[in-house]
Amino acid sequence: MIQLIRGFKDILPGEVELWQHIEKTAATLFEEFGFSEIRIPIMEKTELFARSIGEDTDIVEKEMYTFPDRKGDLLTLRPEATASVVRAYIQHRLYAQDPVRKFYTIGPMFRRERPQKGRYRQFYQINAEIFGVASPLVDAELIFLLVTLCERLKVTDVAAHINSLGCPACRPDFKQALSVFLAGKTALLCSDCDRRRDRNPLRVLDCKVPACREAMIDAPSLHDYLCAACRAHFETVKATLDRLGVAYRVDKRLVRGLDYYTRTTFEIQTGALGAQSAVAGGGRYDGLVQALGGPDQPAIGFAIGFDRLVEIVGLNPADLVRPPDLFMAALGEKSQQMAFDWMCALGRQGVRAEIDYGDRSLKSQMKRADKLSARYVLIIGEQEAAQGKATLRNMATRDQLEIPLERLVEAVRETIQP
Ligand code: ATP
Ligand code: MG
Repeated sequence: MIQLIRGFKDILPGEVELWQHIEKTAATLFEEFGFSEIRIPIMEKTELFARSIGEDTDIVEKEMYTFPDRKGDLLTLRPEATASVVRAYIQHRLYAQDPVRKFYTIGPMFRRERPQKGRYRQFYQINAEIFGVASPLVDAELIFLLVTLCERLKVTDVAAHINSLGCPACRPDFKQALSVFLAGKTALLCSDCDRRRDRNPLRVLDCKVPACREAMIDAPSLHDYLCAACRAHFETVKATLDRLGVAYRVDKRLVRGLDYYTRTTFEIQTGALGAQSAVAGGGRYDGLVQALGGPDQPAIGFAIGFDRLVEIVGLNPADLVRPPDLFMAALGEKSQQMAFDWMCALGRQGVRAEIDYGDRSLKSQMKRADKLSARYVLIIGEQEAAQGKATLRNMATRDQLEIPLERLVEAVRETIQP
């Protein structure tokens, strides 16, 4: 028996309804806030991710699925969406008419990490990106959107954590201070961090290895190095969130695992998922569009871990399954053939009808109708068929109604979808 690849998964009926519900809820919310959907490929040239995410990140160093295609070009299954959305923004000159654009996209991402609860090798993200706005208002808007989505999905036990990572003007001083600090900690750091220490000391702040976390407890904080402009930006984000009634925690340790972030970064964290506490993460990446060859446009975005969100929504997938509107229990060859034709005609008009494809007793057909929780059952016995009528039963109230066969589809529709 051939099995799934490790870290990949099937999303089966019974669970998929939850995914569909979340997807619809998110898409509706995004559209209410003026976002358009954008769909990007699941593969890109490796260079795109290497350049945008950063060579020293976990993702680029060890998590990407990269392979040469037949002509030797290096391709990568996308580990995240932002790089591709930025590429599309630049490539199709989506800034030309109006640089202010809001996009969302939903789909699979691929990272070769150690699989565990809430961590897969193919996982899904819901992404949002806003281009062309430098104002801290959109930083607050995105955090507000995340919190509102959680509300609509009845997710509790989440908290917004925010921080500022500064800008190219204030970061060098901080990097310098951090390097000095790290030089005194070399014996305590994991081999990755020891190597990254000089090249990209910020990465050490994001390391998940417990010993590194311990060593970093009294590390200098970027927060204390913010320039006046970055500090003012962050103050406005906070004041706006206050005005919107969004609760948040300033988390000076919050850095994110991608190189391109500037200024505001944020995460939605939950206590409900053990070690995988980040449900969503995002931030500003003002330099990335230009770094990838586009115009100098600021940008900000977030990614929600769809798989993790599914784990914590306060909804029961069973409540989201749509049972059949109608089950037709037909006896005898002629009735069964009519039932099949009606099922097709009703389906075309949006009524979900089911039949029993076999030639089984009324009792076993009724059992199946019960099992499917059909709202109505139509009984077409041989005798009834001969008299040109059938019986429609409301399964909740047990009310019965006689329906003439010659206008069955209309009559059923009128009763079921008044
Ligand atoms: P983590 O710290 O959990 O590794 P990350 O910082 O690598 O997360 P991002 O790159 O910011 O994650 O991606 C945004 C979100 O995508 C995360 O907050 C998380 O919910 C989700 N995510 C990331 N990696 C995985 C994975 N391997 N499996 C499932 N969800 C994931
Ligand atoms: Mg990660």
